[in-house]
Amino acid sequence: MRAHVVNGLTIVSVEGFGDRRIVHGFSTRGGGTSKPPFSSLNLAYHVGDDPQAVLKNRQLFFAALGLDLARSTWAEQVHGARVAVIDRAEVGRGALSADSVVPATDALVTNIPGTALAIMTADCVPILIFDPVRGAIGAVHAGWRGTLAKLAVKAIWTLQEVYGTQPSDCQVVIGPAIGPCCFQVGPEVVEKFAKHWAGDDLTFISRSAQGWYVDLARANSLILQGIGISDKNIFGGSHCTCCRSQQYFSYRRDQGRTGRMAAVIGLVE
Ligand SMILES: [Zn+2]
Repeated sequence: MRAHVVNGLTIVSVEGFGDRRIVHGFSTRGGGTSKPPFSSLNLAYHVGDDPQAVLKNRQLFFAALGLDLARSTWAEQVHGARVAVIDRAEVGRGALSADSVVPATDALVTNIPGTALAIMTADCVPILIFDPVRGAIGAVHAGWRGTLAKLAVKAIWTLQEVYGTQPSDCQVVIGPAIGPCCFQVGPEVVEKFAKHWAGDDLTFISRSAQGWYVDLARANSLILQGIGISDKNIFGGSHCTCCRSQQYFSYRRDQGRTGRMAAVIGLVE
């Protein structure tokens, strides 16, 4: 994963992911207008920040990406397992205000040129998907619940159903998220994975003297490989939001009072 600075904002992206038809990027916390504890590039309306500051921050980030904020679509993320297909009537929902957001949805897919999909996170795993054959994209919000529900796989099945996507054609980026260094969980979370993922590779769970740790990036990579996505088409997964306090918001590190980054993927016109 590499960081580059555009207009004073640091954008993280992955070389080798996608082609000239798409733009993607993960925001970082600097260069925005929000005050503590949202300082400074908070991109979420729902966390209690000044909505005008959030809108300004979103405009700054989208300008840096070279994408049109008004043609981006945002979801009301609820740690659920619903995938929404974004057609022309839905484009732009949740971009300029909170009330038009796509309700109760944690994954978005589309194939409309000149539009983008956005997922907000601060520890949960943002996953971006590109099908270069069908020209379709997806964005997924996967915390441990979304990972347990295999939401990234569900998003790919939705791409297949709607656009004819073959998993083996897909490229995927796993964005900045809390790493196995910091994501300690209780035994009840481990039990859920062991129960619902029977037969799956559980090497993403480790145990130390302190307790159980889950590597959500690796878990998502494993389930995507399980449906035929090649290891060489799965990028990212190396930045821990909790460790990198200068770069990222972290819900766990900041004890819930913090901003959100956005993971964005857009299809160019
Ligand atoms: Zn860490």
